Formats: sequence, structure tokens, C-alpha cells
Amino acid sequence: MIKRIFSLAAYFLAPVLLVAVIFSSNPGYYGSVGFVPMVLGAVAYTLLNAQLILSARPKWIESAFGLDRFYRFHSLMAVIAIILAFAHKLLEGKAFPESFQTKLGDMALVLFIGVSALALVFMADTLIRLFRPLRWVRSLFVRLKVGKYNVQRILHNASVAAVVLVFVHVILTYSAHDPLVKAFYILYFGGAMGFYLYHKIFRKLLAGKWFTVETVVPESGSMTTLLLKPQNGAVFPYLPGQFGFLRVFQHGISSEEHPFSISSQPLEKEHLRMTIKNLGDWTSGVQKIEPGSKVLLDAPYGRFSPPLYDCREGIVLIAGGVGITPMLSILRYYAQADRRQKIMLLWGVNRQEELICQSELRAMENEMEHFMFLPVANDPGFAGKKGYITRELVERTLREQNADIQKQHYFFCGPAPMWASIRKNLKTMGIRERMIHAERFSL
Ligand SMILES: Cc1cc2nc3c(=O)[nH]c(=O)nc-3n(C[C@H](O)[C@H](O)[C@H](O)COP(=O)(O)OP(=O)(O)OC[C@H]3O[C@@H](n4cnc5c(N)ncnc54)[C@H](O)[C@@H]3O)c2cc1C
Repeated sequence: MIKRIFSLAAYFLAPVLLVAVIFSSNPGYYGSVGFVPMVLGAVAYTLLNAQLILSARPKWIESAFGLDRFYRFHSLMAVIAIILAFAHKLLEGKAFPESFQTKLGDMALVLFIGVSALALVFMADTLIRLFRPLRWVRSLFVRLKVGKYNVQRILHNASVAAVVLVFVHVILTYSAHDPLVKAFYILYFGGAMGFYLYHKIFRKLLAGKWFTVETVVPESGSMTTLLLKPQNGAVFPYLPGQFGFLRVFQHGISSEEHPFSISSQPLEKEHLRMTIKNLGDWTSGVQKIEPGSKVLLDAPYGRFSPPLYDCREGIVLIAGGVGITPMLSILRYYAQADRRQKIMLLWGVNRQEELICQSELRAMENEMEHFMFLPVANDPGFAGKKGYITRELVERTLREQNADIQKQHYFFCGPAPMWASIRKNLKTMGIRERMIHAERFSL
């Protein structure tokens, strides 16, 4: 909580501070006509710099909010920063003639709008699902082979150029003749660049966790488990259900980073597992990863972990397809750490081959007094429960287990359409927001 308050306070006070410093440098001017454009410009400048800090995903702040919320905030603030910068341009354009300095600001704005538009179309999966025209644009670009997520990630770095242009733009303004104002401009820009460079270069070198691929285990349902051995000592501390960004260094496999949940549990110190489904370009090559290859992990991330909450009354895990991976970590953890924990796992799949680790889960049912597992497959050949995870099914299962519906913590991980329906169902069951936790497999 303290981290949240501190980071939000710092985020929202930074523009106020800059406005106050600029205002006090020339109260006569800013107290009259120049006030509104100055405020718009100062806030936009601060938010643009803050965007670099957010894109550096500082662990300290991420651990307070969770990475998906963090990235959604990043997208929202990009839009707000653009609107403010645009309004600033319109108002300043009336007062000042066009010059090299104003042109720099215009170029930065155009660049920033371009980068943000590409990110909205190619990286913001939630928006893509909501707006069909965005989907059309994306599939057109994908057909032209320029719409790949990782190509967009590289293009996204052009926002750094926009921030540099904005910095030169503000340093050339009249306000920067005041030494304190100039110092603030430099401080904000330097701080943002520092975070960015640390994330892009130094964090990987200093804080990245190196592993060696020990075994590659093919699972059913187009899934593969990588068993990773730490290169130095034991596996780093993490919470069950968290995830990391994986890079594989092997000839013929791109070393781009991809996020995957850790499917092993944190008490297992010798190995770490990640279970990966073939869902696209990079993941289709996972079976080709060879034992002995080097792997770099940036981890752990996320707040999708029962030990972060008071789950004494019970945990309901609802997984869809490959969304089982963080659940495996959670279950493996409780199977070692607390076998008396009340847990239910409802796992929905389309094809029964997707139901991996069946014997392990059945063994857990025998070993853990209060663990109940219900696989549901929308597959005519499946011998167990057929269909989908509906509200009736969740309620009936909870009643059969004598669980208090309102006191359970619900953890969902699975595809977006399933999340929409599960969330709606949990809401109609009257479950409070703070008892619902979700991990979306898109950022
Ligand atoms: C927090 C989190 C945990 C995840 N855990 C697992 C897991 O345990 N097992 C598993 O099989 N999958 C997991 N995924 C999904 C996995 O990251 C994507 O399936 C994979 O990155 C797709 O890459 P691709 O090149 O094969 O597919 P593509 O066809 O290139 O991409 C498909 C979609 O995957 C996402 N994606 C692609 N590349 C990246 C990237 N570098 N960073 C972020 N998102 C990307 C985008 O939404 C994209 O639209 C997880 C995702 C997230 C965000």
C-alpha cells in the first residue's frame, strides 16, 4: 500500500512541481496570458518523460500494481500526454511564430502520435478486442509482414527520439533561461533516460538471471515444458503464480523476449519450469530448443499469487487452456507448503489433449485433504464433464464443497473471451472486486 501511495504521489506531484517552478520564474507573465499553455506544456513534458520510466517497468513500482495494470496505465497516460501536448501546441501557436524550436515540438508530437497509434493497434490487445476496425488494420499489416508484436516493440523505441526532441524543444524555450527551470527540465529528462537505459541495457547485464536448458519435455496439446537450471546457485525467490520474460540464446532461435508464467513452485530451488503453448511465430519454435542452451530471465513479475492475500477461507482457481501454467505453480506450492489449504481447480479446455499433468493433479487430490479438481472439456470424446465453465457449474461445485462463495479468492487465467464471461459470472454472483484476480496472457 505504501509503495502504491508513494509512487502515485510522485507521479502526480511531479507535474505540479514543474508548473510551480516555471510559474515562480515569471509570475507576471504566467499569471496572465501564458498560464494555460504553460501548464499544458509542463504537464505534457512531465508525462512524456514519465512514459519512459513506465516502459522501463521498474520492479519496485510493478510489484505494487502488477504489470498488466501498469501497462494499461502506460497506454492511457500516452493518450492523455498527446492530448495535452496538442492543446499546448494550438495555444502556443497563436502566441509565437513558427521557429526551429516550435518545429522540434511539432516533430516530437507527430512521432509520439505515430508510435502510440502503432502501439494501440499492435500491442494493446484489450483495445483490439473491443474495436473491430483496429482488428482489420492489424490483420492488414500482419499480412504485409510488418505487424509482428516484436517488430512493433522495436518501433516503440522511437518514442525515445520523441522525448529527446521534446527535451531540446523545452530547453530552447524562454522559460529555460531561468536556471532553476532549466535544472528541472534536465532533471526530468535525465531521470527518465536513466531509467530507460538501465532497463534496456544495464538491468539485463546486472540483474538478469541466467539459466541453462536442462530438459525439453514435449507435453500433449502443442505444449512444451522447459526445465531450466540456474547457472549460479539456487533459483531466485519468487511467488507461486508469478511470471518472467524469457530470452533463449541458441542459433536459429530469435533472442526476443517473451513473457511466460513460471509453472514450478518456489520451494524447488534447483530448477525452474516454464510450460509453453505453440501459439504463434516464436512459440512454434520452442520444441527446437536444445538442452544446454543459455536462457536469460527477467523475473519475477506479477501479483497473481494467493500468498499475497488472506486466502484462509479458500482459493478457487479457474483456468482456460494454457492458463493452467500459473495454477500449476500455485498447486505445486501448496502441495509442499500447506497441504491443508482449501483449493478448487476448475479447468476448461477445448480438446482433452490440452489437459496436461493429469496424473500429478489426481495425485494431489489424494495427498491434499481439501483440494478438488474438475476438468471440463468442450470435446465430445471427453469422458468427464463436457461443455464450458458456467456460473451454474461454479456455484454448484462450491456448494458441494460447502465453501462460502463470498469468502473465496478467485484466480482466473485463460483466454480473453473466457475472462469476459467468468468475470461477468463472478460479478453476478456478488463476488467483490478485491476477491477476483486475473492473469491475462497479453500485456
Ligand atoms: C503475463 C503473461 C504470462 C504468460 N504465460 C504464458 C505461459 O505460461 N505459457 C504460454 O504458453 N504462454 C504464456 N503467455 C503468452 C505468451 O507470452 C505468448 O503466447 C507469446 O509471447 C506469443 O508469441 P509468438 O511470437 O509465438 O506469437 P505471436 O503470434 O507473435 O503473438 C501473439 C500474441 O502474443 C503476445 N505477444 C507476442 N510476443 C510478445 C512479447 N514479446 N511480449 C508480450 N506479449 C507478446 C501478443 O499479445 C501477440 O498479439 C503469457 C503471456 C503473459 C503476458
